[in-house]
Amino acid sequence: MRFVLRELAALETVRSLPGCEEATSDLVDAVLEEAARFAGDVLAPLNGPGDRQGSRLENGVVRTPDGFADAYRLFVDAGWPSLSLPPRWGGQGLPCLLATAVGEMWTAANMAFNLCPMLTLAVAEFLAAHGSDALKAIYLPRLVSGAWAGTMNLTEPDAGSDLSRIRTRAIPADDHYRIIGQKIYITYGDHDLAPNIIHMVLARTPDGPPGIRGLSLFLVPKILPDTAGNLLVHNDVRCVSLEHKLGIRASPTAVMAYGDSGGAKGFLVGEENRGIDLMFSMMNAARLAVGLEGVGIADRAFQRARSYAEARVQGRPVAGPGADAGGTAVPIAFHPDVQRMLMVMKSQSEAARALAYSVAAATDLARLDPNPETRRDNQALVDLLTPVVKAWCTDIGIAVADTGIQVHGGMGYIEESGAPQHLRDARIAAIYEGTNGIQANDLVGRKVARDGGRAVAALIERMRQASRDLDGAGEARVQAIAPRLESGIDDLSSSTLWLVDHFPAEPNRVLAGAAHYLRLMGIVTGGWLMARAAGAAVRRMAEGDGDPAFLEGKILSARFFAGTLLAETAALKTQFLGAGDALAGLDTRQHL
Ligand SMILES: Cc1cc2nc3c(=O)[nH]c(=O)nc-3n(C[C@H](O)[C@H](O)[C@H](O)COP(=O)(O)OP(=O)(O)OC[C@H]3O[C@@H](n4cnc5c(N)ncnc54)[C@H](O)[C@@H]3O)c2cc1C
Repeated sequence: MRFVLRELAALETVRSLPGCEEATSDLVDAVLEEAARFAGDVLAPLNGPGDRQGSRLENGVVRTPDGFADAYRLFVDAGWPSLSLPPRWGGQGLPCLLATAVGEMWTAANMAFNLCPMLTLAVAEFLAAHGSDALKAIYLPRLVSGAWAGTMNLTEPDAGSDLSRIRTRAIPADDHYRIIGQKIYITYGDHDLAPNIIHMVLARTPDGPPGIRGLSLFLVPKILPDTAGNLLVHNDVRCVSLEHKLGIRASPTAVMAYGDSGGAKGFLVGEENRGIDLMFSMMNAARLAVGLEGVGIADRAFQRARSYAEARVQGRPVAGPGADAGGTAVPIAFHPDVQRMLMVMKSQSEAARALAYSVAAATDLARLDPNPETRRDNQALVDLLTPVVKAWCTDIGIAVADTGIQVHGGMGYIEESGAPQHLRDARIAAIYEGTNGIQANDLVGRKVARDGGRAVAALIERMRQASRDLDGAGEARVQAIAPRLESGIDDLSSSTLWLVDHFPAEPNRVLAGAAHYLRLMGIVTGGWLMARAAGAAVRRMAEGDGDPAFLEGKILSARFFAGTLLAETAALKTQFLGAGDALAGLDTRQHL
C-alpha cells in the first residue's frame, strides 16, 4: 500500500493540496498501522462467524451477527467514519487517497461489515454537497461521526438497471413529503448497529414529468428527530423481510415498505426532478468504493492462497528448486502451475490496487488543486475511469477469489478453509451499483463516444510517455515490458477510434462488445501502472531505498502482468469488434 501511495498515486502531490497539509508522512503511516490493527484484530475475526450466522429479522427487528454491534461502536469511537469528511462537519479532512487505502483494509477484513460505513460515508458526502442548511445541521454531524447510519434506496421490483420505472411516490405535505412505495435489496436497510438510519430515497412527485426526469431525492429518517437530534417517533418505514443471499450474508439486504400507514415523512434534497443527477453524484463515489471491494477481496484471497501453498505438501517438481529434495514431497508453492496461479492473483491484485488508488488521487486533485486546468483534467480522468474501477476491479476480485479456490484443491471447495466465502462475497460487487454491463455501456457511450475519445487520448499520451521512460531506463528486465505495453496501447487506441467512428450510426454494434472494450482499457491501464511500478522499483533498488526482495517482487509482478495479461489485448480488440459483427443485423432472440 505504501509503495502504491508513494510511487503511483502521487501521495506527495496530494498532501501538498490546500486542506491536506495535515497528512504528513508520519500521520499517513500511523493511520495505516492503526487501521491495519483494527482490521486485523476486530473486523477480520468476525468475517467467517458473521457469514455463518448471518443477519436475522426477528419480531420486526433486524439483528446483525454477534459482535457486529460492538465492533461498530469501537469503529465509531475510534473516529474511523469521519476520516475524509470536511472538518466543518466534524470530519478529519484527510485526503480521499488515504481513506481509500484504509477502506481497502476494512473491505478485505470484513466486506459485509464495511458496507454500513461505506454507505454512510456516501450519504454524508452527498449531504455535505447538496443538502439544505437545515438538513445538514441535524443530520450531517451524526452521519459524519457514524452515530447514525445511511442507506441508498433506488431499486424496486420493476426498477433495477432502469430507474425510469421507479414507482415510489412523494406527495407534498406542509414542510415535507409523504413517501409511499416499496424498495427492495436495500443494503443495511435496517439493523442494530446505530439507533437511527437515514435513507436516501428516489421517488416520484405527482406533477413531475414521466420517466427518469420525474425523479426526486428524499431524505427519510427511520426515527424522526427534533432539531437537536433527539430521537422522537418512528417514521412510517419498516423492513418487511431480509433476503437469503449467496454472499455478504452478515449484511442485511432488506425489502423496505414506505408509507403503510399513510406516508413516511421525507425531506426533499436539492430541487424536485433533479433526483437522478443528484443520485449519480452519490453513485459515482459508491462505484469507486465498490471497485475497491474487488481490490480488498482479491488481496485477502491471495494472502490466504499464498499461506496455504506454503503449508500444503504434495508432489515433487520435475526440475529446479524442490526437485533435489531426494524424492521427498514439497509444498505446492514449488510447482510451476501453482506459482503461475499465485502470480496471476498477485499481479492482478496489485494492478487493481494501483488503478483504484490512482483514481482516488485524481479525485483529490480534481477537488482541491488550485490550478483550474489540473482540476478539469483530473475530473475528466476520474469520469473516464470510474466505470473501469467499478467493473474491472470487481471482475478481478471474482477471478482472483476463484483462482484462490483452485490453489486450495479440494480444500478450496470446503467452507472451513475460508476460500469459498471470498468468492461468494466478491460476486455481488459485479452486480450492485450498476451491473458491470451497465458500466461498460456507460464507458463506451457517455465516457468515450460522447467526447470523441478525447479523454482516452489524453490518458494514452501519458501511457506512451511511461513506455518511453521504461525503454530508456537501461535495465533489460524492465525494458522487456515496454513493447508489450506499446502493443496494448496500440490495441486500445485503434479500438477507441473504431468505437468513436461506429457509435453514432451503429450503437448496438459497439454495445455488443462493450464489456470487451472495458476489459481492454482495464488491462492496458493496469499494465501502464505496473510498468511504472517496475520503473520505480528499479530506481529505488539503484538508490538502495527499500527492501530489495520486495522491490524485486514488484518487477516480477510487472513482468508477469506484461507477459500474460497484456498479451490478451490483441484478442480483446478482436472480440470487441467481432461481437458486434457477429450480431449485426440479427434479431439474436430468434436464434437463442
Ligand atoms: C445484495 C444486494 C445488495 C443491493 N443493495 C442495494 C442498495 O443498497 N440499494 C439499492 O437501491 N439497490 C441495491 N441493490 C440492487 C442492485 O443495485 C440491482 O440488483 C442492480 O442494479 C441490477 O438491477 P436488477 O437486479 O433489477 O437487474 P436487471 O436490471 O434486471 O438486469 C439483469 C441483467 O440485464 C442487464 N441489463 C439490464 N439493462 C441493461 C441495458 N440497458 N443494457 C445492457 N444490459 C442491461 C444487466 O446488466 C444484467 O445482466 C442490491 C442488490 C443486491 C443483490
